[in-house]
Amino acid sequence: DPGLYIVATPIGNLGDLSHRAVETLKCADHVLAEDTRVTGKLLKHIGARTPMLRYDDHSSEAERDRIVDRLATSAVALVSDAGTPLISDPGYKLVRAARAAGHQVTTIPGPSAAIAALTLAGLPTDRFLFAGFLPAKAKARKDSIAELAAVRATLVFYESGPRLDDTLSALAEGLGSRDAAVAREITKLHEECVTGTLNQLADRYASATPKGEIVIVVGPGEEAQDASDEDVDRAIDEALTRLSA
Ligand code: SAM
Repeated sequence: DPGLYIVATPIGNLGDLSHRAVETLKCADHVLAEDTRVTGKLLKHIGARTPMLRYDDHSSEAERDRIVDRLATSAVALVSDAGTPLISDPGYKLVRAARAAGHQVTTIPGPSAAIAALTLAGLPTDRFLFAGFLPAKAKARKDSIAELAAVRATLVFYESGPRLDDTLSALAEGLGSRDAAVAREITKLHEECVTGTLNQLADRYASATPKGEIVIVVGPGEEAQDASDEDVDRAIDEALTRLSA
């Protein structure tokens, strides 16, 4: 059927490509890719010959309009280099434009490094805030962290190896030495998840710059953890009372 299909792709292990993702990528009229070389390999792997077009959110309005026009008659699949499109990746402007024009938008969900890291970290998952990449400049990064310090939720950050050490130190300084985890190369050969306090993790990575892709997960801090069990019980009781009323 015509419309826009948001297709999640693996974050490392090709076995994580879903059956529905394969069917959609094979049957689509076009695949929109961030990097046609990266996506070209994936299409080759599944034996799809679907023509590719380049797309990112920096593409001009005119280019976006041309894509949106196609959606009336064509099935167009959006992928990113890895994981779920729109999550620290291009796509939201296209989804917004497709909806505004009244086209069908369908999601084929799958891997995302943020969710995968949350499942490895062993930190509370009832409330989390996905913070994406922190700003690269020290002052802007410090300001962002200061804003997040008040949030009573587990925090999830994307990061790269060379900046890990600086980021962990800045997080320890701005948030206090909360429990945290560094999840690296998830679903790949050298997958690891190292847990500890932010200070411990900052020490550990001070001397050794790790290779590969990284997610930092930071627990919500003491107060939130103390409050949560009772609060959750009370909220459930209240909700049940309302339901049975
Ligand atoms: N859209 C993707 C998703 O759904 O996960 C994220 C794209 S973002 C541009 C790339 C960042 O995701 C990396 O810098 C890293 O922080 C994280 N990432 C992607 N793959 C990963 C993996 N296999 N292990 C750990 N982190 C990963």
